[in-house]
Amino acid sequence: MGIEGLNNRIADIQSRIIALQTQQAGRTTQSSTTSSTGAAGDDFASYLSDAVSQTSTSGRTYSLNGKGIPTDLEAYGNGKIPASALEQVGTTRHKLWGPAAEALTRMMSDAEKDGVHIGITDSYRPYTEQVDLARRKGLYSQGGLAAKPGTSEHGWGMAADLDLNAKALAWVRENGAKYGYFNTASRESWHWGFKPNSVQGSGGGQQFSVQ
Ligand SMILES: [Zn+2]
Repeated sequence: MGIEGLNNRIADIQSRIIALQTQQAGRTTQSSTTSSTGAAGDDFASYLSDAVSQTSTSGRTYSLNGKGIPTDLEAYGNGKIPASALEQVGTTRHKLWGPAAEALTRMMSDAEKDGVHIGITDSYRPYTEQVDLARRKGLYSQGGLAAKPGTSEHGWGMAADLDLNAKALAWVRENGAKYGYFNTASRESWHWGFKPNSVQGSGGGQQFSVQ
């Protein structure tokens, strides 16, 4: 095992310790509500509204650091976040930072009420997958479609790639900002980053609560 392998082992162990400490600090885990269904089909809206009510009890206060990175995640590092520190989006298999997951769940539920289906193709992206994507799709700064590994919004659980038909894309463009979601990659209409401080009416503060 070389130095890099050792460093990876150390980082892995550190992130496990942090995860344990976080759990001991009384983090509420609500993973018992997970569903293995694909959540597609006629019952999607009812699944989603169940999920909304189940995840709406946290009442936690979250904050972002000066770089817009969640303070409860920054110690892990981009793409090194344990699954236990992220939250499920609705009944999907996708996970994001807690407030981002909750806002996207609400956005999908509200869209569904308007007859618009928002799918998710990608969400939190581990560092190794960022490296793989950069190799396959090229760096965004060089005309490709991948962020420099370790800098992706996906690596903080702060972005989702959405599966949108024309109607859904129009709906998200019109309504996304109400939920804190903005199309943060101009060449990728599917990439929606979570920018909670830009939410209309939030006052631009660094702290906000999830009800
Ligand atoms: Zn993306």
